[in-house]
Amino acid sequence: MLFARPMIARTLRTLLMPALLFGCADAPIEDGVAPGEATAPDELGTEYVPGPVDGKADNFAGPPAPLKFAGACAEGDRLTIAAVGDVLLHGRLQQQSFRESDGYVSLWRDAQALLAQADVTYANLEGPTAAGVDARGRSVTDPGRTFDNRVYTSYPMFNYHPTLLDDLMASGVDVVSTANNHSLDRRSLGADRTIDALEARGLPFTGTRRAGEDREWYTITEKNGFRLAWLACTYGTNGIPDPEDQVLLCFRDAAEIEALVRELSTRVDAVIVTPHWGDEYHARPNAQQVALGKRLLEAGALAVIGSHPHVLQPWQKHVTADGRETFIIYSLGNFVSGQRHLPRRSSMLVYLGLTRTADGRTVINGARYVPLHMSETRDGRLTLEATSVPADSRALTVGMFGEWNVQPPASGLVTNPECDPSWTPPAAPHGHDGWIGGACEASDACGGAECLDNLPGGLCTEWCERTCPDRAGRATTFCADLGFENGGVCVARCTADAECREGYACREVARPSDAEYIRKACVPTR
Ligand SMILES: [Zn+2]
Repeated sequence: MLFARPMIARTLRTLLMPALLFGCADAPIEDGVAPGEATAPDELGTEYVPGPVDGKADNFAGPPAPLKFAGACAEGDRLTIAAVGDVLLHGRLQQQSFRESDGYVSLWRDAQALLAQADVTYANLEGPTAAGVDARGRSVTDPGRTFDNRVYTSYPMFNYHPTLLDDLMASGVDVVSTANNHSLDRRSLGADRTIDALEARGLPFTGTRRAGEDREWYTITEKNGFRLAWLACTYGTNGIPDPEDQVLLCFRDAAEIEALVRELSTRVDAVIVTPHWGDEYHARPNAQQVALGKRLLEAGALAVIGSHPHVLQPWQKHVTADGRETFIIYSLGNFVSGQRHLPRRSSMLVYLGLTRTADGRTVINGARYVPLHMSETRDGRLTLEATSVPADSRALTVGMFGEWNVQPPASGLVTNPECDPSWTPPAAPHGHDGWIGGACEASDACGGAECLDNLPGGLCTEWCERTCPDRAGRATTFCADLGFENGGVCVARCTADAECREGYACREVARPSDAEYIRKACVPTR
């Protein structure tokens, strides 16, 4: 095979690269880091740690199955819940919020209507909102709405101005978790002052309490006649001691949490547990998450909504021993953060629909999601995209959760559209659409990769020497020698022809200048 190489694209890429690398002091380095080159992670994500792929790194699993519930079309009272992941404000995000006229809303403006349209909306408040407290937990003069790097700070000890809470509430957030590894970033006093700020505004929270306070760990929200119990916990507090026992710990306190879930489930319509857990930057839950999640669902929780890994982890339906259909998502990823790399900037808003049937039971009628992406504008502002997500980010999220459950951002919220006989499920795209190996007409469909429009249906790809950047955190691409003049092109891995698009077949191909290194990949047949 010999294909003409589009010289224009190559030249453009060469010109763009230095700008990408040196364009700003906080240069994004999302490109060019191959799996296996990872070192220790940090909170900003300057190093890349690919997630394990079920031990089958060479396999592309194909599109995920729809997540459906037997109670989808049951008659009864309805309630919708929305949930997003970590509100994790690195310095740039705080500085931007103090500059912009709409404050913190500038970080998620595009998602505001999507948050607000649910009956009850949840977020993880990852850090204190402790006015006038420094990193040692001492009371000092509050600087006001300014990123002074003393009271209001970034990683590793976050603290946010309490007006963050006003902006979350104005965006429709009804309940937050305060149990996470940053709960004690302003020590005991910071946890107290955060609770002061939450209570002053009437924003319900769960997972922490004041020093010396005998408060319940959970909170109950009431809406449309539904009483929901929310219960948050965290795996730990970054080694910061908790002498006043102010933070609920998921694993140490598992028996207490389980008993609480069991008790709450007898007197509210649904119990929702929001654990802060899991391995950072891993696309799969660990055994501890799976075991505790199942235990809490079996104890009576209707849903477990996790966070902390900074990347998405899968969702599942779990049918309990007593026959209840329950829901778990192991990690929602970051809602808003300053982290780099596609998987850390790609997350989602989950909608869960509840129906209370005539016999008083609450069942799940459906789960939907909207892919989200934290984007950086040309002028260096960070803002969440919800109504129009870059192709590679959408491909990553939809590749994990499937097209069937996508809630189109522009249409009204329906968690069980399949109950309408006129509804047609969206066509499942090829798993690589918008990403390497996918079809394209122009490069803007390839989310930063190039479109080789002289190949069948167009091919989103990148030029490569040995390895391909695997921004999706899944080893699904291969640097193949397709006979181009110099260098290989990144193509999608496969196990069978059925995984490849029309005009492509699953063939063994070698890496450029390494004829021994062979993998199966979708390659053009003409
Ligand atoms: Zn965390």
